[in-house]
Amino acid sequence: MMKGIDKVMEHAEQTDRLRRLMSPNRGRSVKQNRQKLLLLTQLITSVLILLLVLAIDIENEGAMKVIAKMLELPFNMALRFPNLDLQSLPFAQNLNPEVLGAIVALLALGFTAAYKYITKPPKGCLDPENFKDFKLIKKTQLSHNAARFRFALPTPSSILGLPVGKNILVRGKDSNGEKVERSYTPITLDSNVGYFDLVVKMYPNGKMSHHFREMKEGDYLAVRGPKGRFSYKPGQVRAFGMIAGGSGITPMFQIIRAILENPKDKTKVHLIYANVAVEDILLKEELDNFADNFPHRFKVYHVLNKPPQQWNGGIGFVSKDIIKSHCPQPAQNIQILRCGPPAMNTAMATHLGELGYTSNMQFQF
Ligand SMILES: Cc1cc2nc3c(=O)[nH]c(=O)nc-3n(C[C@H](O)[C@H](O)[C@H](O)COP(=O)(O)OP(=O)(O)OC[C@H]3O[C@@H](n4cnc5c(N)ncnc54)[C@H](O)[C@@H]3O)c2cc1C
Repeated sequence: MMKGIDKVMEHAEQTDRLRRLMSPNRGRSVKQNRQKLLLLTQLITSVLILLLVLAIDIENEGAMKVIAKMLELPFNMALRFPNLDLQSLPFAQNLNPEVLGAIVALLALGFTAAYKYITKPPKGCLDPENFKDFKLIKKTQLSHNAARFRFALPTPSSILGLPVGKNILVRGKDSNGEKVERSYTPITLDSNVGYFDLVVKMYPNGKMSHHFREMKEGDYLAVRGPKGRFSYKPGQVRAFGMIAGGSGITPMFQIIRAILENPKDKTKVHLIYANVAVEDILLKEELDNFADNFPHRFKVYHVLNKPPQQWNGGIGFVSKDIIKSHCPQPAQNIQILRCGPPAMNTAMATHLGELGYTSNMQFQF
């Protein structure tokens, strides 16, 4: 029993650490905010009951005595007052039953409204048909050609509303002022309230890359979504193999986070992440932290074209042998997700086919 509780506690701590790791400025999740709101509502309602009860015209003795008797057990149990006799309280002696009825009805209405408000899932901010503008509030350079862009949502308690596995379409202007649209996958989830983050790799001649390079804090980005063919539900496979190259990590990262943040999700993830050099590895610290904190659920194998002298990951391109050693074996209840530059995607599809992974067992973002 204690072992079980320890395990649950350990898991809760890990999940909490993960959330704080991913949103250092705003550790509160939507769930935590709702719990606070629920507590506040309960407190306000309790104060209101007390005030109403004290303000009531004390008249009818009998009715209140019956109610006091009915309330006594749960009240005493809740407050842990074993010997409190509600019937002896002054308000219990005389109370107008009509007034009491009205109070109970009002309270029931209030509770129902508060419950509906609290349990209503927050509405997302995206529109699949129309572009909406989001303000860039922070730009953090991650390497010579990659940056993390944080965009504010309309209110501090708004959520983006992007289902796990989906992406967004972004509109900007290239270096000639021509309109350009490209897909991106936020690395934040709906458990991050008030903002969303994009990690973008900017190529020297890339059209949208130019737009992102030029963006300054305070500028707005036009975004439309959600879109994409992939959707994720906990337990849809036993294990994922993931093969990512460069900025192809972002769709994987989103799914990995969703899996690891959900203690009920038992899906295992095996990630192979290919880059040119160590400094090109996006989100390395976060990925390595996931591997340390969730060793039974997540494994990452880095592969580099130009490894440093001390390197215990893979070297060169992702080969059939690397896939064989670091991905789940072909089976109906596993899936291999791929996302990388076109040449890498083609090479991986060939390797996977030769290793016996059917097209149902593969997905390319
Ligand atoms: C579903 C989806 C999600 C994506 N999510 C992200 C994301 O979160 N972050 C991110 O940075 N990118 C992401 N991408 C890639 C993104 O959509 C753009 O393709 C990328 O930013 C380059 O666009 P560009 O207009 O700057 O380059 P383009 O003008 O389209 O290309 C110019 C040149 O840049 C180089 N280039 C372009 N794309 C790549 C590439 N992927 N690998 C290697 N070289 C390339 C090529 O040499 C190319 O000739 C995603 C793509 C898809 C399909």
